Amino acid sequence: MILGGGYIGAELGHFFAALGTEVTLIHRGAQLLEREDAEISQRFTALYAQHCALLLRTQVHGVQQQADGITLTLSGAHAPAQVSTDTLLLATGRLPNTDLLDVARAGIALNAQGRIITNAYYETSVPGIWALGDITNPHQLKHAANADARVVAYNVAYPQTPRRGNATAMPHAVFSSPQVASVGLSEREVQAQGWPYLVGRQAAPPAGRAACGGLPRCASAGSGLASSRGAEATRGVEKAV
Ligand SMILES: Cc1cc2nc3c(=O)[nH]c(=O)nc-3n(C[C@H](O)[C@H](O)[C@H](O)COP(=O)(O)OP(=O)(O)OC[C@H]3O[C@@H](n4cnc5c(N)ncnc54)[C@H](O)[C@@H]3O)c2cc1C
Repeated sequence: MILGGGYIGAELGHFFAALGTEVTLIHRGAQLLEREDAEISQRFTALYAQHCALLLRTQVHGVQQQADGITLTLSGAHAPAQVSTDTLLLATGRLPNTDLLDVARAGIALNAQGRIITNAYYETSVPGIWALGDITNPHQLKHAANADARVVAYNVAYPQTPRRGNATAMPHAVFSSPQVASVGLSEREVQAQGWPYLVGRQAAPPAGRAACGGLPRCASAGSGLASSRGAEATRGVEKAV
């Protein structure tokens, strides 16, 4: 049983299902991967449901360890009142541990989410203390932390000519089945800016490779399945905004 329909829940659900584990994924939203554009998350959810059981629009109200397993108390239009499992994986999001580290005691400023606030050079509010990675970067991605680290290493060594971090067009991928990958602003984010825009979309090609070619956004769902299961080749999509 997996609780949480973000990318970590979806990836690990796919992984365990591929090993033969009977997986049920519980998610309070209507679609998995809700940070993706709606059409990507809808398509992903429909394909994902073919190999993992989904309990969508479902809230968990209690978890009890019992002699013969773990029982979850649920509510939701299509959810049973209780489900039991032998193993529960929580994938409901991550928070920086600035509270445990008590960084505020050092005078380091935090934002409302508990992340360390830095300037464009990744200096904190305390001179000589820098921050990088998940503890400050809302992207919470490994390559984002690595990029931060390169900037901080340079700036610590060369404080007279500091470099700015650049988090525009941050790429991300979901290593699941189907796969999802994107870079740049989503359609939702472009709409929020109030910018005029065009959308292009096409069925994912059987080779399963999305070619971004300088476009601000390119996402594909289903391309991984497309390369291994020909019947589903047309169900993937590439979208450019
Ligand atoms: C299940 C899972 C899957 C993920 N998959 C992906 C993926 O596919 N692609 C991707 O880009 N990102 C992925 N991520 C996110 C990625 O792991 C993080 O964004 C990345 O590790 C952040 O790096 P970091 O150095 O900021 O923090 P971390 O990698 O968390 O490193 C922080 C380190 O600080 C140590 N530490 C903490 N407190 C103390 C203390 N008090 N004293 C000493 N040491 C301490 C910790 O032990 C840890 O070693 C995934 C995360 C999870 C949980």
